[in-house]
Amino acid sequence: MPTRFLATPALALLLVASGAQCRAAESPEPDGAVAVPDTLRLTFDYAGVEALTSALERDSLGDTDVDALLRVHGVRAMVDNVTRFVPGIGEPEFRRAVQSFARTKRRSDLDRYFGLNEVWRARRDMRALVGRLRSKEADIRHRLLVQLAPYQPNTGPLVASAYFVAGGVSTGFVPDDASGRMYANIVRAGDGYDGVVDNLAHEAYHVMQKAAQRRAGLGAFADSVESLPLPDRLLATTLAEGTAQYITEARGRDGRPPRAGRVRQHFAVLDTVLAGLRDGSLAWERAYARGFTSEENERFYVLGQEMTRAIERHCGRACVARMFERHPAEFFREYVRLYRAHPDIVGRFAPATEAFVAAPATGR
Ligand SMILES: [Zn+2]
Repeated sequence: MPTRFLATPALALLLVASGAQCRAAESPEPDGAVAVPDTLRLTFDYAGVEALTSALERDSLGDTDVDALLRVHGVRAMVDNVTRFVPGIGEPEFRRAVQSFARTKRRSDLDRYFGLNEVWRARRDMRALVGRLRSKEADIRHRLLVQLAPYQPNTGPLVASAYFVAGGVSTGFVPDDASGRMYANIVRAGDGYDGVVDNLAHEAYHVMQKAAQRRAGLGAFADSVESLPLPDRLLATTLAEGTAQYITEARGRDGRPPRAGRVRQHFAVLDTVLAGLRDGSLAWERAYARGFTSEENERFYVLGQEMTRAIERHCGRACVARMFERHPAEFFREYVRLYRAHPDIVGRFAPATEAFVAAPATGR
């Protein structure tokens, strides 16, 4: 992702953890007492939400107004993230979209990428939400810590910056770089305040995953996932999203697991997608769409969540955390070992997938 960062450091959210890591005990007991690190500082950046909302309320926007808007880090990053997922759609399209929306207050064909109409319609709710978030920062910080500490991989000292944004194609995102920045789209927070906090926790776990992978000499999975061989990229993305989803969504961790038939389907789709990536018949964009988008029921999020559920239950939370010190194939190998030992685990891979993840290769 391009690194055109223009943030004001004073506005950045800082999440600072001590070097002393909290690791869960080597026990399959899921509800053991959790030591929470006490050296975390958390501040928040709302400028992306506020600047875009104010801009849309204007009657018109000149080129210099849009220049100023794009100098707000949370806006710039949202636009760059659209380009990351939809190459060919970026700053020029955003300029056209935002100028047109200010003038007409009507959605344009570019709205499917930038979601300006959605931001406009939600502006009052968003202002109220920003007010609530500002007044609850200590509470949010505590919730993040309690939720993530039991699964925190070996990150070392951790510094992360978080930004609330509005619009764009993602619910939240973390760029593939070592900046430690994370972004949460508050328009897409389904459950209001709680949804935003869950969303932020999900992105914060991605920051932890990447920090641990870098520390373990696995920087390729943290910072250049886009240049990995496509089958490895699928394994890495499934690990990153499945664990983050499981840990930060109440329905993943504590809720009722999805129906067995649905789970089996998801595993069969992964077998097919992996085979297509291996023989070159499937492009990454299509693989990503089949597994990780809401149009296709986010099926590999659910699949990765079920894998994480089994690993926590039978191997313990520390086992989940250790997955970021190994090649992502280990997440799959561990899961295969578990379902061979525990017939009650329903999601199974085809023999070709089992053989692929088991095959020794450089760096695995
Ligand atoms: Zn994610």
